[in-house]
Amino acid sequence: MRNKEYHTTCSYCGVGCGITIREGKNGDLQLEGTKDHPVNQGMLCSKGMNLLYTVNDTSDRLKYPEMRWSKHHPMERVDWDTALNRAAMVFKSLITKYGPDSVGFYVSGQCLTEEYYLVNKLTKGFIGTNNIDTNSRLCMSSAVVGYVKTLGEDSVPISYEDIELADLFFIAGANPAWCHPILFRRIEKHKEKNPDTNIIVVDPRVTQTCSLADLHLQINPGTDTVLYQAIGRCLIERGDIDLDFIKKHTDGFDAYRQEVMSRSLTEAAAICDVPLKDIELAATMIGNAKGFLTMWAMGLNQSSEGVNKNLALLGLNLITGHVGKPGSGPFSLTGQPNAMGGREVGGMASLLAAHRLQQSEAHRKEVADYWGVDHLPDKPGLTATQMFESLADGRLKAIWIICTNPSVSLPDARLVDEALKKAKFVIVQDISRNADTVKYADLVLPAAGWLEKQGTMTNSERRISLLSKVIDPPGEALPDAEILIRFARKMGFKGFDYKNFEEIYLEHAGLTKGTNIDITGLDYKRLEQEGTFQWPVPSKDHRGTPRLFSDHQFFTKNKRAQIHTCGPQNEAEPLNDDYPLILTTGRIRDQWHTMTRTGKVSKLKKHIDKPFLEIHPSDAAQAQIKDGDPVIIENTRGQVSALAKVTEDIKSGVVFLPMHWGKILNRDFGRANNLTSSNFDPVSKQPGFKYAAVKVQKY
Ligand code: SF4
Repeated sequence: MRNKEYHTTCSYCGVGCGITIREGKNGDLQLEGTKDHPVNQGMLCSKGMNLLYTVNDTSDRLKYPEMRWSKHHPMERVDWDTALNRAAMVFKSLITKYGPDSVGFYVSGQCLTEEYYLVNKLTKGFIGTNNIDTNSRLCMSSAVVGYVKTLGEDSVPISYEDIELADLFFIAGANPAWCHPILFRRIEKHKEKNPDTNIIVVDPRVTQTCSLADLHLQINPGTDTVLYQAIGRCLIERGDIDLDFIKKHTDGFDAYRQEVMSRSLTEAAAICDVPLKDIELAATMIGNAKGFLTMWAMGLNQSSEGVNKNLALLGLNLITGHVGKPGSGPFSLTGQPNAMGGREVGGMASLLAAHRLQQSEAHRKEVADYWGVDHLPDKPGLTATQMFESLADGRLKAIWIICTNPSVSLPDARLVDEALKKAKFVIVQDISRNADTVKYADLVLPAAGWLEKQGTMTNSERRISLLSKVIDPPGEALPDAEILIRFARKMGFKGFDYKNFEEIYLEHAGLTKGTNIDITGLDYKRLEQEGTFQWPVPSKDHRGTPRLFSDHQFFTKNKRAQIHTCGPQNEAEPLNDDYPLILTTGRIRDQWHTMTRTGKVSKLKKHIDKPFLEIHPSDAAQAQIKDGDPVIIENTRGQVSALAKVTEDIKSGVVFLPMHWGKILNRDFGRANNLTSSNFDPVSKQPGFKYAAVKVQKY
C-alpha cells in the first residue's frame, strides 16, 4: 500500500465523517478527516481522531476461532473448518429437533450493509425464521415507526446541508455536542455566522449542547409528548400553522387539534415542570422560523412512549409545513454508523429488504422469489429484548451474536447474563476479547475490524459510502461477510457463491429497484471514483437525492403525510417510596458503547475515566451524599456503584449514569444496565433506557 491513499468512513456514530488514510514516511499509517468530504469537511471529533490507536493495538484482538466441546470443557483454539462445521452441526440439529425458531441472530448497527444483508438472507430466507434482530432496536426503532406512520416510510427527509439553511434548531432528547460532535460543530459555526439563529434544547439535564441554547426546556423525563402537543396548541391558537400545507398535503389534523386542545397549557406546564412562558416562547420561535429543523435521539426513542414522542415531534413539523423545504424537516440523529444501512436491508425482526414489510404476504413473496426460496416465514421474529428473555426461559436454544456486547448494552443486563448462561449454544463473533459477552461463548469467531475489510455504510442523512480495505486482519480473523458465507455453505444453502463483497452489494441493490430507496445506480466503482451518495440513486447518471419530499408527495398510499394523535400515555416504571428517583442513562463525549475500542485509548480516558452518578444537590443532601462520595444506586433488578457528581445540571428527582462501563474486577461497578428496565414501547419494541425507578445511598 506504499504511497497509496484510502478513503473510508468513521466507524463510530451515525454522523458518518469521511476519513483519509495515508502511509507515512516510515511506513506507518496516518489518519485525517477528508478535507472535501460533504459531511465533515476535514473535521473529526476525539473518537474519530484516535481511531488508529484502536487499530494498531491488537493486544485484545481475537485472532483464531476458539471452541469448547461441551459446557464442561475448556475453550481451545480450532481451525475455521472445525469451528464452522460445529456451528452448522449444532444449528442443524436444533432446527431439526425444535424448529427454525429455536435459533436466532443478534447483530449490530456497526455491521456493514453487506454483512447485514447476508445475515438477513441467511436467517429469513434459508434458516426460515425471523429471529434476527439488532442493537439498532435499542437505538432507532421508535424513530423508524414514527417516520413510517407519518411520512409513509422509514425516510429521513433532510440533508446535513439543511443545517446551514435553518434558523431554528429544536434539539430534543439529544446531546449532539458530545454524541454527534461534528454535526454540533456545524451548528456552532452556523450560529457564529448567523447570531439570530435560535436553538431550543429539550432535556432534563443541562448538557454541553445547552451551551449554545437560546432556550432550555428542562422537562420532567417522559413528558415530551405533553410538551410538543402544548407547543402545537400554542401554534394553532395563534394561527402560526401552515393551513395551506395541512389542507393540501396532510391527513389527521382535525383529530390532532382536538387532542392538543383537550389539555390546557397550564396543565401541560405543570406535567412537564416547564414554565408556561417558555412553552409560549418556544412556539413564538417556531412561528417565526423560516427553516425549522427538529433533531432528536435516544431521549425520545429509548422510551416506553418512544413512538408517541416521535409522532408528537413530527407533528410540529407537519402542522407548520416545515418538511421538504430547505433548512426544515425532521432529523433523527442516528446513534450507530450503519443503523440506516441495516434498515435498508430489512435488518430487524419486523422488516424486510428495501423497506418492505415482514407482515405483507406480497412483500414476502417478492423477496422469496428474488432469493430463489419457496417462501419466507410469516411468524414475527423475536426482537432484541424478547430474544434474551426467550433464551432465559428456554424457548430459544442458540444465539449468534455479531459485533455487539449485549451483556453490557441491553437493559436489565443481569437477565442477559442469566440467559447466556442458560443457552444451549452461544456463538460470539467479534473483534475483541474484552467484549463481556465472550465469556459465555461456546464458539468464538474472530472478525476483521475497521480498515480490515471492504463494504458500505449509510449515515443519518441517507449518505452511502464505501469503506476501503487498507490492512489485513490479525491472525486468522475474517470479514464478517466471509464468515457468514462459509457458514451458509456448511449448512448446504445455495445462493451464497459470491466472488467478492461487491456482488453482495449489487444483489442488495437489485432488491431496491423501483422502490423509494432505489440504489441501482450505484456500484463500488462509482462510490470509489465519485464519492458518497444520498439515496435514492436510481440510475447510473443520477447524483443522489439530498432532500426528500420537496414536491410534498409523501410515501403514503395517498401521498399525503399523516398527522397523528397519541392517545393515552404508555406506562413507564412508576416511582414509589422505596425507589423515588428517576434514573436516566446516556453517553459521554469520548467513549463509544461498551468501550471495547475507545477504552483502549489512554487519551480518551483523560476526559472522564470513571463511572459517575449525576445527582441534584437537594437529592444528595437528603441522602447525606457529598460530591465525590462513592454511592450505590439500587432497584429490584440490581445495584451499581459510582462516584457522586453533585450538580445543579440535573433536575431534582432525576439521576444520570453513563452507559459505557461493564463489570470491573468482577464487581458491577458501573454497569448502568443492571438497573434499566426491559419495558419497551408497545409498537417499536424499543426499551425505555431513560426511565427506571431507583434509590441512591452512600456506599
Ligand atoms: Fe466519528 Fe461521529 Fe466523531 Fe464523526 S462525529 S468523527 S462519525 S464519532
